[in-house]
Amino acid sequence: MLTIHQIPVLTDNYIYLLHETITNETAVVDPAISEPVLNRLKKLGLSLNYILNTHHHHDHVGGNLALQAATGCKIVGSEQDKKRIPAIDIALKEGDLFQLGSEKMAVIETDGHTLGHIAFWFQQSKALFCGDTLFAMGCGRLFEGSAMQMWTSLNKLMALPEETQIYCAHEYTENNGRFALTIEPTNADLKFRMQQVKEYRQQGLATVPFLLVEELATNPFLRAKSCSEFAQIRQLKDNFT
Ligand code: ZN
Ligand code: FE
Repeated sequence: MLTIHQIPVLTDNYIYLLHETITNETAVVDPAISEPVLNRLKKLGLSLNYILNTHHHHDHVGGNLALQAATGCKIVGSEQDKKRIPAIDIALKEGDLFQLGSEKMAVIETDGHTLGHIAFWFQQSKALFCGDTLFAMGCGRLFEGSAMQMWTSLNKLMALPEETQIYCAHEYTENNGRFALTIEPTNADLKFRMQQVKEYRQQGLATVPFLLVEELATNPFLRAKSCSEFAQIRQLKDNFT
C-alpha cells in the first residue's frame, strides 16, 4: 500500500513523498530542496529510506546531499546518467525492478528532456512518476535528446494502463492547456478540461496528478500521428508564450 504526499516547492515544482504503509519504507521523488521534505517527514513521524531522481536538473536533485546527510537515505537514479546524479548509490536501467517495502517499482527510460532521464512506475498502485517527460497537456522541452527520442519515450508511457495516475514534477498545466487549444481548438474534452483547470488554479489547487486516459484525449503531443508531427508541435510550443 502506497500513500503519496505531494509537496509544492519553488515556483511550480512538485516533490512526492511515498510511504509504503505496511513496512513504513519511504522514498522521496525529485527533492528540489530539502527543508520541506524534512518538515513533512517529521510531521508524519517517518524516516527517509530513498531518494528517487528522474534526472540531473537542479530543481530535481538540489536536496540530495542535505537529505542524505540528515537521514542516511540511499539515492536511486539512472545508470546512464549516474555521473550527474549527486551522491547516487543505486543505478538502475530500463526494466530494472526496485522494491519499496511491499511495492514493486519498474524503471522506464525516457530520454528526451535529458539523456538518461527515467520514470518510476508503481504498477500495483497505478502510479507513474515521470519527472519532466510528460506534463498535463504538455511534455518536457528537448534539452538534450532528439524529437525521435522523446517521441519514443512518450509512446512507452502511452502504452501503460490508461487508469495510471501521472505524477509529473511541475504545475505547468494551465499554460500547456492554452497552447493545446491553439492546436485543437474544437476538441470538446480539451475545452472541458481547461475549464476545470482554470477553476482549480483560481482556488490554488494542484492539477497534478491526472489520469493517462485524460492525456490521451487532450494532450496534443500524445495525439500527434507521427514523430514529425510531434516535432512540429514541440517546436510551436517552444515559441509559445
Ligand atoms: Zn528538468
Ligand atoms: Fe524540472
